[in-house]
Amino acid sequence: MKTNRNIAIDGDSGSGKSTVGKLLAEKLGFVFIDSGLFYRAATLVIIKNNAEAEKEKWYKLVEESKIEFENGIISINGKKTTLGELRSKEVDNLVSPVSTIPEIRNKITEILRRIAFKRDTVMVGRDIGSVVLKDAFLKIYLTATVEERANRRFKELIKEGVNTTFDEVLNNLRTRDLIDSTRETSPLKIPEDSYVIDTTGLSIDGVVNKILQFYEGKEYALRNGPCSSKSTI
Ligand code: C5P
Repeated sequence: MKTNRNIAIDGDSGSGKSTVGKLLAEKLGFVFIDSGLFYRAATLVIIKNNAEAEKEKWYKLVEESKIEFENGIISINGKKTTLGELRSKEVDNLVSPVSTIPEIRNKITEILRRIAFKRDTVMVGRDIGSVVLKDAFLKIYLTATVEERANRRFKELIKEGVNTTFDEVLNNLRTRDLIDSTRETSPLKIPEDSYVIDTTGLSIDGVVNKILQFYEGKEYALRNGPCSSKSTI
């Protein structure tokens, strides 16, 4: 079995998880997994089947689809998805309700675990440290004010060519925050053994460097005996 050096990064929508996680994975030579994209792929399946209003059909539709990951790209039934369609407004508006379905969460959790089992992974999401990779080597929780998160997400969407406004993004984030933190199955919460970083006003490099310091600290502790494992910045 491979040595577990998996890094779990959880946090609110737009807290910078994906950008930070991607850069961190590049620096460490790890696989980068954005678990939100898998929930988005499941949502896309539902939208493509015009089943948005038929909640009772959602799980069956997702269960019958083959959601796969190869070379950083998610495919649905052998057809590659694009970031544009996974991040579309239609998906944004339906993804949190879809993510409340326990059977859909189980299916995606299984896919994610299979990936992390094979290679050292930086995985970002909402329940990575608390559910998907409970035994992760390092757990990080990123947070930032809702305005700062909306601003970042708005800029990202505009860069991707999505037609939207700041207010629309802010309202979508507020709604998703509420659904994600109050759902019954795997609600967004801070895992007890995670390092919390408030990224408001911090640069991407600044956050990545902090995580690298925690990572090196863990490595050091592994070689030389334990030290404190909980911290808030
Ligand atoms: O990270 P992103 O904003 O792309 O995630 C989209 C949605 O997918 C979240 O709002 C949440 O409802 C769901 N999600 C989840 N668990 C994860 C990752 C994402 O429920 N691990």
